Amino acid sequence: MQKVRPAIPQRRCVGCRLVKPQPELLRLVAEEGRAVPGKGKPGRGCWLCREEKCAREALRKGEIPRALKGKAGAPGLASLLDWMGLRLDGDRDGGLKS
Ligand SMILES: [Zn+2]
Repeated sequence: MQKVRPAIPQRRCVGCRLVKPQPELLRLVAEEGRAVPGKGKPGRGCWLCREEKCAREALRKGEIPRALKGKAGAPGLASLLDWMGLRLDGDRDGGLKS
């Protein structure tokens, strides 16, 4: 295993609450009332692992609006996964059927 250099900033994922190296995480910021990917953007931000389970967990618990101090609503799961470079598998879990 490679050692993590201490120079890499560590951030806490709002989904699983684990602290991870910043480059592994997706940053969200509040922009015009919406949560958007905000790598390098100023302002209040929160961090999320690039994993579907963390996206689901953060949405389920409402952690994103909370972390953004109510300045933005939660994004959709599909948007989150898209920003993470993941695809939403709509056939699984059946959660998206209306
Ligand atoms: Zn996580």
